[in-house]
Amino acid sequence: MKVAVFSTKSYDRRFLEAANANAGHELHFIEARLSAQTSALAKGTVAVCAFVNDTIDRETLSRLKEGGCRLVALRSAGFNNVDLPAAREFDIAVARVPAYSPYAVAEHTIALILALNRNIHRAYARVREGNFALEGLLGFDLRGRTAGIVGTGTIGVETARILRGFGCRVLGSDPQRCDDFIALGGEYVALATLLAESDIVSLHCPLNPATHHLIDEAAISTMKPGVMLINTSRGAVVDTRAVIRGLKSGQIGHLGLDVYEEEGDLFFEDLSDHMIRDDVFARLLTFPNVLITGHQAFFTAEALTAIAETTIGNITSFAQTGRPAHEVSVERIA
Ligand code: NAD
Repeated sequence: MKVAVFSTKSYDRRFLEAANANAGHELHFIEARLSAQTSALAKGTVAVCAFVNDTIDRETLSRLKEGGCRLVALRSAGFNNVDLPAAREFDIAVARVPAYSPYAVAEHTIALILALNRNIHRAYARVREGNFALEGLLGFDLRGRTAGIVGTGTIGVETARILRGFGCRVLGSDPQRCDDFIALGGEYVALATLLAESDIVSLHCPLNPATHHLIDEAAISTMKPGVMLINTSRGAVVDTRAVIRGLKSGQIGHLGLDVYEEEGDLFFEDLSDHMIRDDVFARLLTFPNVLITGHQAFFTAEALTAIAETTIGNITSFAQTGRPAHEVSVERIA
């Protein structure tokens, strides 16, 4: 099957070509992000392969349909960037990679927690400057602390498992209970209780209308003063402006982000020769107790292998049966 692969980086190409070795699909690698404007690049391809910051709205889907597209295969778990009702209307199947390596994202979450707590980012810069002073680097023991996991799905459970290993009490909030979370010693509580009792709040829920700005001014005001907030899910689960106010007041003691509401204009590109025009993002960078990575939590060799293999599998099953193996249906929004 002919496939237009949007937002291609060198690593996407490497892992997709390896996964495609036996499947034999005709992969066309395109560096541009997918949008209504770039959709013409997929003209004549039945399948389109896209990533997290591609804009797969009604207009894009309508133009893809005109060009003959019948499948959008996402190289991601999240699918908040796809207008699923429009895809249904245009009879375009949408596939995703439901679980590639929850360990990759969970371990990155822990990396952010440990780096922020022990100020590794500041210590690294200090030592290179010959500054071995410890003032400002004071951390806390994780053992005995309470960590709140918002969204105890695949990634949330793995994060909880590691935190239990550190000796944390782990609270969870999720409309769906997970037996694994309970088995590893997690305690389900209401979100309000989780926010009030947690020293660390880590977000692992999908972005949808119910979770958009879940962490807003009101939620932040109910958290423990000095709380550590970690977001490796999707940027818009957090109201960034409210978080900045929380950092300025000291209500938020540490902030670790791998995702950002407006990351589409920044992440995955080398902008080091450009100025950052996003004033909200630039303000975040001024806080010593804020650590931001550019949507790299998924970025391990194991995860990229699994993403590529599942994506090629989705395309192959669509070619053989007319349905991708891991279809995202409009019903999932509900
Ligand atoms: P998952 O579907 O296995 O788990 C998500 C969980 O969130 C589910 O248990 C669901 O019931 C729960 N949930 C839904 N609404 C909720 C709410 N209002 N409050 C609390 N919980 C709620 O998904 P996953 O594989 O664990 O991934 C979680 C999210 O992580 C994805 O949606 C994606 O946005 C993000 N992600 C980020 C990266 C990265 O590189 N930073 C990589 C993969 C996934």
